[in-house]
Amino acid sequence: MEQQMPNWLKKRAELTPERTALIFENKSYTFLQLYQSASKAAGQLAFAGISSGEVAAVLLPNHSDSVMILYALQMMGVRTVILNNRLTAKELAWQLEDSDAAALISEDSFEEKLSQIKKESTIKILPKEKIFQFPEADFQLLEEYHLDEVTTVMYTSGTTGSPKGVLQTYGNHWWSAAASALNIGLQENDKWLCAVPIFHISGYSILMRSLVYGMCVVLYRNFNERIVLEGIEQHRVTIMSAVSTMLLRLTDALGETRLPEFFRCLLLGGGPAPLSLLETCKQKGIPVYQTYGMTETSSQFATLAPEYSLEKLGSAGKALFPNQIKIISELGIEVPAQSEGEIIVKGPNVTPGYLHREDETKEKIKKGWLHTGDLGYLDKDGFLYVLDRRTDLIISGGENIYPAEIEGVLLGHKAVEDAGVIGVADPEWGHVPLAFVVRKAGAAIDESSLISYCTDSLAKYKVPKGIVFSESLPRNASKKLLRRKLRDWAAGQGETHEPSK
Ligand code: ATP
Ligand code: MG
Repeated sequence: MEQQMPNWLKKRAELTPERTALIFENKSYTFLQLYQSASKAAGQLAFAGISSGEVAAVLLPNHSDSVMILYALQMMGVRTVILNNRLTAKELAWQLEDSDAAALISEDSFEEKLSQIKKESTIKILPKEKIFQFPEADFQLLEEYHLDEVTTVMYTSGTTGSPKGVLQTYGNHWWSAAASALNIGLQENDKWLCAVPIFHISGYSILMRSLVYGMCVVLYRNFNERIVLEGIEQHRVTIMSAVSTMLLRLTDALGETRLPEFFRCLLLGGGPAPLSLLETCKQKGIPVYQTYGMTETSSQFATLAPEYSLEKLGSAGKALFPNQIKIISELGIEVPAQSEGEIIVKGPNVTPGYLHREDETKEKIKKGWLHTGDLGYLDKDGFLYVLDRRTDLIISGGENIYPAEIEGVLLGHKAVEDAGVIGVADPEWGHVPLAFVVRKAGAAIDESSLISYCTDSLAKYKVPKGIVFSESLPRNASKKLLRRKLRDWAAGQGETHEPSK
């Protein structure tokens, strides 16, 4: 039987009305205030013609108003396509078209992109400044959430190909929040700092946890290491989500100082983390929980507790309580511990599928198991190690080489700002690794010394056969490295940044 739960924000406002739900730019809101503001916004959205069962897209920054709008849409039962702010107008227009959204809710700060979108599409655009002027119309507040129903659609980052709209149900978000709490626990004084975008599952899942747990979110427009460090002290933040570039900047800014005792968890996700960074965090006593997850799993799926962070350095831990992980061979057969293969995942936080992509859904989700396209292995104790994307694997003389491992080593060099590795054809070995490196400003390092540095940490066959120095590397709107573009560079096609030797 289909499961239902009472409306989360309404329930929260009944259970803990006076508790602080959100802090944004030194203004705080209780759960009751959020419920009242979101209900008002829902009435105004209804006046603007948005109604239950429809699909609406949002292009909104990290801001308290955006939170009210997202909560309003959820309470109205409007499927919300949450768009990445950093996409170009063209990319946004494509996602609007692909998702069949009836309207785009945004704000005047995106004026430039909005006027370009207007040229490319006929979608109705509703800036919040206008919505907040509207009178309130009657609307149907969802008294119950059906766990199987889709509440949000988020596009994948488009690292391996075109972005895909991932369907996320109320149940996916509920189980994701439950799984996280069953892992890191829930304390009465918990406050979760959100300086990751709320348009990504990393940020949006913090909002969902806030509703489910009754926990305060300290929200920032964007990430600034100094401001975040001050915020942790000022608001007595206990948990924070970060990606590795943010963590690197935090560790640099911390210098010799330490994070306060009450800060208990730094959830690290989004991609691989260089081992050198994890070691620095251990030295500085930063409680890093490395995670593995994706848009399709509504945030973290597996997590490594800090007590294992040295013993199991580089691991993303074990699948959370409701979740399962298997590693399979190319023939689809489960492989034993220590053997490499594709990571497949199953659990109640896994998406029911991709929007308007039935074939891809069938291809990726089989018997409830999502085939992630990521390669990895489980060690003999059941800890997951994520190696890389299947599409980026380099096979050299019959040996598997994972570009992420080589990039991690290169990033550990003090003169290296950024690094990307791909395989290039080689008559003797089939393929060999080639590295693209961005030097730190003012740093002087040449190809042969970087290669000899790599020789110290990597087996000979993994050492890049060449280094191409470049001004920057191709990254997508989520700042993820686009190795497919590097392959074009190497093949001399479609170069956007001319690499310099
Ligand atoms: P697309 O699916 O369009 O190619 P994407 O996979 O980058 O884009 P996201 O859902 O944002 O889109 O990212 C999830 C991916 O990030 C995972 O499938 C995995 O490849 C990578 N990732 C997440 N956590 C880790 C980790 N701990 N170590 C290595 N890679 C990770
Ligand atoms: Mg993906």
